[in-house]
Amino acid sequence: MRAWEKNFRKVEPYIPGEQPQFENMVKLNTNENPYPPSAKVAKELEELSRQTEKFRLYPDFKSRVLVDALALHYGLSSDQVFVGVGSDDVLSVAFLTFFNSEKPILFPDITYSFYDVWAKVYGIPYKCPALDEEFRIRREDYYGENGGIVIANPNAPTSIAEGLDFIEDILKHNRESVVVVDEAYVDFGAASALPLLGKYENLLIVQTFSKSRSMAGARIGYAMGHPSLIKAMNDVKYSINSYTMNYPALRLSVAAIEDDAYFRECCDRIIGTRERTRKVLCRLGFTCLESSANFLFATHGSVPAKKIFAALKERGIFVRYFEKPRIDNFLRITIGTDEQMEKLERALVDILGQ
Ligand SMILES: *Cc1c(COP(=O)(O)O)cnc(C)c1O
Repeated sequence: MRAWEKNFRKVEPYIPGEQPQFENMVKLNTNENPYPPSAKVAKELEELSRQTEKFRLYPDFKSRVLVDALALHYGLSSDQVFVGVGSDDVLSVAFLTFFNSEKPILFPDITYSFYDVWAKVYGIPYKCPALDEEFRIRREDYYGENGGIVIANPNAPTSIAEGLDFIEDILKHNRESVVVVDEAYVDFGAASALPLLGKYENLLIVQTFSKSRSMAGARIGYAMGHPSLIKAMNDVKYSINSYTMNYPALRLSVAAIEDDAYFRECCDRIIGTRERTRKVLCRLGFTCLESSANFLFATHGSVPAKKIFAALKERGIFVRYFEKPRIDNFLRITIGTDEQMEKLERALVDILGQ
């Protein structure tokens, strides 16, 4: 070991889903949206291509155009909105800002696998109460003392959503720590905690443009909460890197937010495809958890998930498989277009010999 290496920060990094680059592949492994962003985004990009002189200047470090557009869209004031480079950035800033207690923060044993990575890199103590037998969050596990709470709703990779009463119950039992609700998938059929914002000053809601708004490549996420939470996050963010949101991302994200009709149409289409796909999978011998997201979490009655995962991959169809306790016989399948799901069905019929 070189002398200086003992001073390195040692971390076990988060491993994102594969980003394979094959022609004609069916990519159902990272929950991206199969549809392009709004035509208004394309139009804005064209305009931007004629204004390259704008790149000369630093962007507005307050990202005001986007903050204001989101505030208007959700009926909030601008000091209730924080923006970041994807919700991964937003969540990372939230962990760094709010979780400085000696008491452990709490999040489920099966959830977004980035949470424990942030906890470790920032030295935050944490505990992971187990989901119940049905992969549901046990609310009582979140009643005790803690340094903060993080709940993904809908949860990932289970796809299961809890209702507003569930989130409010957790808030009622936690008046002394920040409760972060990660709503990356909320637009696919779950209830947002937004109506609770006026009542609970310790609630932070995190959402993203990556899934329901088809803009994973632009890296845009946001948080909504009491102005005191948002200010604290901005203070931390400006202490690390103030110019995080690039100029094109700001312009394009505003264009996307303004096209609500297209956004709703895409979400509805994905929900429709999800329900058709669920029936197909059931017919093929799978059991799917009840999904409120743009993916299904499915296990087969007789064929191991790992085997199906590999066989699909051979056929150019990528889904997600987690080699983790309790979920190592499940596949997480992103909802693509109807055509992509038909390809999946044909491959599964072939693999399962039906
Ligand atoms: C995808 C995802 C995110 C992060 O998305 P970004 O692309 O960084 O906005 C956060 N939380 C959950 C639960 C996710 O599935």
